[in-house]
Amino acid sequence: MNNEPIKIPQATAKRLPLYYRFLKNLNTSGKQRVSSAELSEAVKVDSATIRRDFSYFGALGKKGYGYNVQYLLTFFRKTLDQDELTYVTLIGVGNLGTAFLHYNFMKNNNTKIVMAFDIDKDKIGTDIGGVPVFHLDDIEKHLPEDVTVAILTVPAPVAQPIADRLVEKGVKGILNFTPARINVPETIRIHHIDLAVELQSLVYFLKHYPTE
Ligand code: ATP
Repeated sequence: MNNEPIKIPQATAKRLPLYYRFLKNLNTSGKQRVSSAELSEAVKVDSATIRRDFSYFGALGKKGYGYNVQYLLTFFRKTLDQDELTYVTLIGVGNLGTAFLHYNFMKNNNTKIVMAFDIDKDKIGTDIGGVPVFHLDDIEKHLPEDVTVAILTVPAPVAQPIADRLVEKGVKGILNFTPARINVPETIRIHHIDLAVELQSLVYFLKHYPTE
């Protein structure tokens, strides 16, 4: 495997963590190879897409053999920067935010929430799931330089001004769980996850496109 960074399409890049998690489990259970059909079944991506995805990074499955699990894992680890820990902050320690603070993200990838912010005086100064909670006013003062990612679980109306402050502070990526559509400079990556919309969409598909 050469050490040049490989340019892969965004849609493929988004599926990498999915593949990575499954392959890691396979590796742990001692499996050395996997077929695209097995992968397809496990990650629910059709096997033609998997084959195309994998071809971008030079993993060409052999007929009757499949893919080498170790090779793929080494590739993913490098591509997903698994060897490097990414520090994350969380803003808004409500119901959803609290759940994230308790969730062990380190289990599946090398990201760690190191600090949280809120404006509720009952939450400030506490430690939730091992993460200290600070007042939002202290973002500028307390947020360490090496925190590059933020999770937003605040009420929608305050999402934009908080995002602006995070960007100002040097945050490069925002995972936005609020329904607010946030504007950020082009150099900043923002992913929107609206759980209510996702749920509604699932219900819609169940109703209108029922599977047998
Ligand atoms: P809870 O039951 O704790 O109120 P929730 O998720 O239903 O949780 P939300 O109103 O969505 O409550 O608020 C989420 C969290 O964001 C709360 O902890 C709230 O204190 C916090 N919050 C509200 N406004 C701000 C703000 N401007 N900056 C930071 N945090 C905020």
